[in-house]
Amino acid sequence: MILIVGGAGYIGSHTNKLLRERGYRTAVFDNLVHGHREFVKGGGFIQGDLSDREQVRLCFAGNPIEAVMHFGAFAYVGESVADPAKYYRNNVANTLTLLETMQEFGVKHLVFSSSCAVYGHAEAIPLTEEHPLRPLSPYGRSKLMIEEILADYDRAYGMKSMSLRYFNAAGADAGGEIGERHLPETHLIPLAIQAALDRRRSLVIHGTDYPTPDGTCIRDYIHVTDLAEAHCKALEYLKRTGQSGFCNLGTGKGASVKEIATLVREISGKDFPSAEAEPRPGDPPVLVADYRKAQELLGWRPERDMGEIILTAWAWHSKERDREENI
Ligand code: UDP
Repeated sequence: MILIVGGAGYIGSHTNKLLRERGYRTAVFDNLVHGHREFVKGGGFIQGDLSDREQVRLCFAGNPIEAVMHFGAFAYVGESVADPAKYYRNNVANTLTLLETMQEFGVKHLVFSSSCAVYGHAEAIPLTEEHPLRPLSPYGRSKLMIEEILADYDRAYGMKSMSLRYFNAAGADAGGEIGERHLPETHLIPLAIQAALDRRRSLVIHGTDYPTPDGTCIRDYIHVTDLAEAHCKALEYLKRTGQSGFCNLGTGKGASVKEIATLVREISGKDFPSAEAEPRPGDPPVLVADYRKAQELLGWRPERDMGEIILTAWAWHSKERDREENI
């Protein structure tokens, strides 16, 4: 059985669904602070918190867990700057409880949700895994700390892990069952779609004077189902090779904020105004992944393009609007 910590969240729930389609037995462990019970499409469900060691131990004692995927973290960069204690407690200290419990129960394989936030300002594009690690926020630092702890756990205890450094997760399940539901929503694609659905007056563009062709920030948007695929492959890699590692997960292609707004208008057939605003503090101009290491190690490559990202996200958020209007 695969234990999916944070499996009721955005990326965890898509991975749980895919693992189950591939025939894995799964159990989701989630405190439902940011996760949603109805996103858990099959497998066991345990409502629990990593801060409660006894609860974590009971979960391991009661289930035949062979490997863990760990998605359970807070992920609002701005909030992490304002309240670092919350991030170090939840993302670092609580992860230690998970690692110690894995150790206690002899569970040796972990797939860890890391982030391109471990790099900080990009000195060269595309970003390879050799790029210096200088995170700009407590959020990014919390991810890097765990990567370093995992390297020590491998050396000392032989625990094998794969840290996956996501670029910008986006899109939704093709079946329309699950998608992105963040409260508050801060991400570009859902906000642009909400503007197209008349749920916001306009899309606010943060910064139009960046050193990019159209002056707006460029990001590498990767479909959430491609991320889920990479988790399955990371699990197979750990089993096959018994080696630890880390790699980027992105598409190698960047899209600007203005390009995303245009694509959302095209795909939705709805026009909406954009408003120009100050850049968000700490936003680097360009982040694009070099994903060759993931291709070499895991045999993974992104299969879904920007069009599919916006189409699936549009279908999901249209459904979300109908759901919320019926509440
Ligand atoms: N962005 C924007 N308006 C918004 C939300 C985001 O212009 O309402 C920009 C943001 O400055 C960044 C890009 O869109 O350059 C992607 O932001 P998001 O929050 O989706 O992901 P991030 O790259 O910050 O993790």
